Amino acid sequence: MQTKEALKIMKVKESCHPTGWPAGRTMKVKDAKEITGSLTRTSKMPGLSYSLPAWECKTGSKLRKIKGSVCASCYALKGNYTRYKAIKAAQYVRLKAIEDARWVEAMTAQVKRSTYFRWHDAGDVQDLDHLKKIYAVCEATPGTRHWMPTREAWVKDHLDSKPDNLVIRFSPPMIGQRNDTWPNSSMVVEKDATCPAPSQGGKCGDCRQCWDPAVKVVSYGKH
Ligand code: SF4
Repeated sequence: MQTKEALKIMKVKESCHPTGWPAGRTMKVKDAKEITGSLTRTSKMPGLSYSLPAWECKTGSKLRKIKGSVCASCYALKGNYTRYKAIKAAQYVRLKAIEDARWVEAMTAQVKRSTYFRWHDAGDVQDLDHLKKIYAVCEATPGTRHWMPTREAWVKDHLDSKPDNLVIRFSPPMIGQRNDTWPNSSMVVEKDATCPAPSQGGKCGDCRQCWDPAVKVVSYGKH
């Protein structure tokens, strides 16, 4: 026979969401931010974006040492990203937060407010567990269009399970290199870039090419 105390503990356990968030309680954006770290609203993009430390890019940290690679002059390893210690510290808080069991729910609570969302304006997907969590956030936010660039070639093996509202663009390692084997990709070019942002005051304006699965390759001018 179970004691009153054991029954009480069981009841508390039953009332908890498996992610650790209490069942039936809606997560507020304020609570969500404390779990994931803050998201970014840049003047360039039409919605929220999110950054991780570029120092932790798995493939990018190897490419950085290769002359002519897109990572050799990575914008996320200079300028404000290094000038302000708080920016780098916040990126590491976000990276650590991915391990939190409440991360998917907390990201969902924030991302669903945005019609367009950009994953990783700095940094990259870390591993399969991380990718699956990103997919779960996309599935939980059907009203949001997601775009995620990546240099991680292994992601290609998991495109079949990708939610439809997420466009993943593979970014080939070298400047001028094009990849047509992925459904969507991007590339960095010396001239004739298709991204109009530089001629629009550095803003996307009405352009949504990066989020559009019908646009097979987007090219960006070299920084
Ligand atoms: S291609 Fe369009 S959507 Fe993509 S970054 Fe450039 S302006 Fe923005």
